[in-house]
Amino acid sequence: GADSTAGTPGARAITTIDTSKPHPARMYDWMLGGKDNYPVDEELARHMLRIEPHLPLMAKMNRGFMHRSTRWLAQQGVRQFLDIGTGIPTEPNLHQIAQAAAPDARVVYCDNDPIVLAHAEALLHGTPEGAVEFLHADAREIDVVLERAAEVLDFGRPVAVSLIALLHFVSDEDGAARLVDRVKETMTPGSHLVMSHFTTDFYSEEEVREATGTAAARGYSFSPRGREQFARFFDGLELVEPGVVLAEQWRPELGEPVPGQGDSISSTYAAVARKA
Ligand code: SAH
Repeated sequence: GADSTAGTPGARAITTIDTSKPHPARMYDWMLGGKDNYPVDEELARHMLRIEPHLPLMAKMNRGFMHRSTRWLAQQGVRQFLDIGTGIPTEPNLHQIAQAAAPDARVVYCDNDPIVLAHAEALLHGTPEGAVEFLHADAREIDVVLERAAEVLDFGRPVAVSLIALLHFVSDEDGAARLVDRVKETMTPGSHLVMSHFTTDFYSEEEVREATGTAAARGYSFSPRGREQFARFFDGLELVEPGVVLAEQWRPELGEPVPGQGDSISSTYAAVARKA
């Protein structure tokens, strides 16, 4: 059930959606062709499209990585999933893929955006054998997230923790490295860390300046990182094959190619690593 949202003050009674500034979850929803976005989100998304017209395709390629990595983890016997930065529901969601492969899989979703909370009901229809819960919490308060997730998941057994297209919204100053370190410390051996991350490695300095400046002017932080910075988040873990690659290059045989995939690279690094 949705009881784990009850700890958020007023969460169930009133959800305040701020439509005065763009939100990443809603912009991403717009890119994926969803309806849960507002004019401010579309305006910034369209601005970003002028810099990179393939953003909607890239979003779908990132989504494809989520599908394939979740399927692979379930095949490896992983039965517990903590997905931080879930986004507005877009079928199939992680629990649908995990529970299709393993009906007893237990999944905890977490996002800090009230619009995701408003749609949490759509995320909570899991199998009777498994469990699905939603936490309205901020990844930057990672200890709170892990503590609340532990009400549903047993961190004494392996868990796959996914931060998919999340950390490019968390700056170094906001503690991105500490966030990942706390996740790695909490994991028991046999657990996995799953991440994808937008990169500006393939863009000119001018394009990067324009994108980060535009985001900052509209009130949200955008922290793209390079390949080395992304790879460093996995320090202390064993990368599983094929290591750090672009999202579309991660075990493509486990899913269907995204229509139009040949038109652009995803500019999104992706990897899965295991705690030994
Ligand atoms: N993981 C999904 C959605 C990515 S969009 C996918 O890859 O398809 C990024 C999501 O992270 C958005 O829903 C946004 O609301 C969420 N997010 C951003 N910063 C966050 C934070 N500090 N804590 C929790 N969620 C956050």
